[in-house]
Amino acid sequence: MNGTPEAPPGRRERAVDVLVVGAGPAGLALASRLAAEDGVGVEVVEREDEPGGAPRHCRHSGFGLRDLRRPTTGPAYARHWADTALRAGATLRTGVTVTGWSDGPDPDRPALDVTSAAGLERITARAVVLATGARERPRSARLVPGTRPAGVFTTGELQRTVALGRGPVGRRAVVVGAEAVSYSAVRALRRNGVEVVAVVTELPYPQVSPATALDARLRHGAPLVVGARVDELLGRGRLSGVVLRRHDGRSRTLDCDTVVFTGDWIPDHELARRGGVALDPGTRGPAVDGSFRTNRPGVFAVGNVLHGIEPAATAAREGLLAAGPVLRALAGGGHPGEPVPVRVEAPLLWVAPNRIDLADPGVATGGFVLRTGSRLVPWSSLVVVRGGRVLHRQRLVGGAVPNRTLRLSAAWTAGVGAGTGPDEGPVRISVVR
Ligand SMILES: Cc1cc2nc3c(=O)[nH]c(=O)nc-3n(C[C@H](O)[C@H](O)[C@H](O)COP(=O)(O)OP(=O)(O)OC[C@H]3O[C@@H](n4cnc5c(N)ncnc54)[C@H](O)[C@@H]3O)c2cc1C
Repeated sequence: MNGTPEAPPGRRERAVDVLVVGAGPAGLALASRLAAEDGVGVEVVEREDEPGGAPRHCRHSGFGLRDLRRPTTGPAYARHWADTALRAGATLRTGVTVTGWSDGPDPDRPALDVTSAAGLERITARAVVLATGARERPRSARLVPGTRPAGVFTTGELQRTVALGRGPVGRRAVVVGAEAVSYSAVRALRRNGVEVVAVVTELPYPQVSPATALDARLRHGAPLVVGARVDELLGRGRLSGVVLRRHDGRSRTLDCDTVVFTGDWIPDHELARRGGVALDPGTRGPAVDGSFRTNRPGVFAVGNVLHGIEPAATAAREGLLAAGPVLRALAGGGHPGEPVPVRVEAPLLWVAPNRIDLADPGVATGGFVLRTGSRLVPWSSLVVVRGGRVLHRQRLVGGAVPNRTLRLSAAWTAGVGAGTGPDEGPVRISVVR
């Protein structure tokens, strides 16, 4: 924490019960449940001009089926949660960015620095919930060499450009990635009259259902290129092509004026990091226990900031389920002691949640989400071990592929501390074939 308890001149000082950062499905769902409680004041701050988070710009259907029991578009799904939060009595403030943490007047309560058109504020809260979502790694973070032409997007940028009517996208596009969001990009491009020259993945197979991959090929004319990567961008002013390199070293140039880098998610962890919130080495989001508690007292995290990326319904469900732990904290419920970390072994990449509080080992969602870096064959098992004791085995009947949700039951967490001490080290999850 930086700063001083004294407010600089011109900065407003306020206090709220719960401050939620981010008005995506996770933050809004949480706010709707908390605001329905008597005597709990909830404020949600959102840096964009409208609430709703990532779905606001996703014009395709593909939302709502799991939680609202009806298929909706992204904007309709976003409106549903914003309306629900408002009806419950939450305060939503848009165009408001949380920039950092402050030393507030009460050393036991987190305080956040906030900026908006109305000026600077310091908001002290009894509980802060980080619901800042995740983003796709752009070209710069993927270190793709070449020139710096126009026409280079992530899926999120593409959807925003289209949704906000910021001009034509291009005529011929290459989509990098072959996971669910990559096929959203294909559909968005085709809806806008853009030919998809290739969908390119480094993996030897697409990471979607065969029906989705076939639909992209037959209906949208989008050929799939596996085992290859975009190695260089060409063109001055506007993109003129990309160099594609196969694993065997062969390369060729694809003519295109647009490239969309899809997937490869990174939690929006900037604010968490600045506040001294411990990050998990796998997810790179805040490390949390099964009650969404971070290492910092009074600070929680929900939604895709924990696990870039899960479907919107998962984020919203986590928001709803986080209300219980937040209310317990407001009522003076204890902060976890020294938690036991949960780690994964290759080819697994990460697991969330990733801590177990021995005094309160429950997992509100009833399970863990994981990712694998390579295909797991059918009938492999996830094995959970601590200090040489096998706590749980789970068969993966259908196997698993990278970039898709893999779930692990939380039925074993109560046994983590049985007859043991903290020096037994982390819980480890591995794969046995
Ligand atoms: C292109 C694309 C297509 C998708 N398609 C589907 C689909 O078809 N079906 C599906 O179920 N899911 C889909 N998803 C995933 C879905 O959108 C996410 O799971 C969901 O939005 C996650 O919710 P969230 O609340 O965790 O985060 P987000 O929706 O990302 O919301 C986080 C919010 O926090 C705000 N924020 C961040 N930092 C700050 C700060 N410092 N101050 C103030 N505000 C801040 C952001 O502006 C954002 O509005 C898609 C996502 C993308 C990007």
